[in-house]
Amino acid sequence: MRLDTDPYLERYASRVRGMRASEIRALFSVVSRPEVVSFAGGMPYTAALDFSAVEDVVTRVIRESGAVAFQYGGGQGRPELREQLVEVMRHEGVPAHVDDLVVTVGGQQGLELVAKCFIDPGDVVLAEGPTYVGALGALSSHQADVRHVPMDADGMRVDLLEEAIGRVHAEGRRVELVYTIPNHQNPAGVSLSVERRHRLAELAEEHDLLVLEDNPYGLLDFEGRTYPSIRSLVPDRVIYVGTVSKTFAPGARTGWVAAPTAVRDKLVLLREAADLCPPNLTQMIVETWFATQPWQDQVKRFVEVYRERAETMLAALAEEMPDGVTWTVPAGGFYVWVTVPRGVDTSDLLAKAINARVAYVPGRGFYGDGSGGDQLRLCYSFPDPARIREGVTRLGELLTRELELVRAVYGDRPPDAADDRRSGSGVASQGG
Ligand code: PMP
Repeated sequence: MRLDTDPYLERYASRVRGMRASEIRALFSVVSRPEVVSFAGGMPYTAALDFSAVEDVVTRVIRESGAVAFQYGGGQGRPELREQLVEVMRHEGVPAHVDDLVVTVGGQQGLELVAKCFIDPGDVVLAEGPTYVGALGALSSHQADVRHVPMDADGMRVDLLEEAIGRVHAEGRRVELVYTIPNHQNPAGVSLSVERRHRLAELAEEHDLLVLEDNPYGLLDFEGRTYPSIRSLVPDRVIYVGTVSKTFAPGARTGWVAAPTAVRDKLVLLREAADLCPPNLTQMIVETWFATQPWQDQVKRFVEVYRERAETMLAALAEEMPDGVTWTVPAGGFYVWVTVPRGVDTSDLLAKAINARVAYVPGRGFYGDGSGGDQLRLCYSFPDPARIREGVTRLGELLTRELELVRAVYGDRPPDAADDRRSGSGVASQGG
């Protein structure tokens, strides 16, 4: 059998046939080697969790409610957990009622269920460019036509969103969803300004839009600030996805969707078809964590870790990057988004980077249209500050050498890597 052909290809559903792993995925198998400083996977620093408190919670759940914890549950998720999640949302100023929520296996399942609920093949989704790899995976597995709206330091350019809506309407088509990560966006590391949030809400009303608001990082602002959610502005037009992956632990695989009642009912039916119900065991651990532990102190501890790492990365970038390299300045979350000068292709550079013992995610993975060849994502949440400095130094040296090479070969007119070469998604396979 030839290794490059799939003997089952003709049998797959059409939505599966086009799915493929990125060619750079293979490179990530070496990223976990200890000598490589990885800025690739979007992994929370779970070592900062208070594990003795976690142990108490887990023991209590099993001792006091073992028979329930190891039993099936309801498809919407436990009301006790939903109450806690409503409280977490309230902390961020996001209004919700326990009945609005469907508990999911991470925010990722929420995104997938929403895609399944709304997307027919070819339906148009407008999303920030760049956007979250996992959302692109969920949307493309339902054959969405994802179109990107550019961003700047204030998040999605809602003026360009309006233009994009106009173009879709001019084709006689509808915008099925507008997907946004308004807080500390993955991968761009920027947040949507308050003014633009209001404008987005207005556009949703004017153009009868549904907004998919994905908010894993809202509580990870370095100054403890919160911003108005889109849900708080136009609740009937928003499907909101949350997760405990960044406030507690991704290993708990617990997220939720808050949706208008009719949509919520469909999501419960879709989830029951997929996996019957979320696991009672993890739900009870999460609800007990939030009900009995000082979870806000734990979030503060995470934020302190991430703030120090972000500061370290930004200082190191300023010292080590050659002229022409630019990057975003995060005020929370996990990510710095880097743009490199003409002539450097970040997909091609990755193998050399790994040889130089530093890893990142090339920009193309964050676009559905193959653009982003001159961009890359650095995630600072996992390596400690000394490793961050080391990794940025290695990357700076590599980019300096690479740019010298580009100049030697092409002079002042190097080719543009920000082309539309295509590559598969799913590159951030070791965490969001
Ligand atoms: N949305 C975004 C923007 C993310 O970055 C992530 C995780 N990296 C998720 C959703 C999903 O995370 P989880 O499934 O762990 O809740």
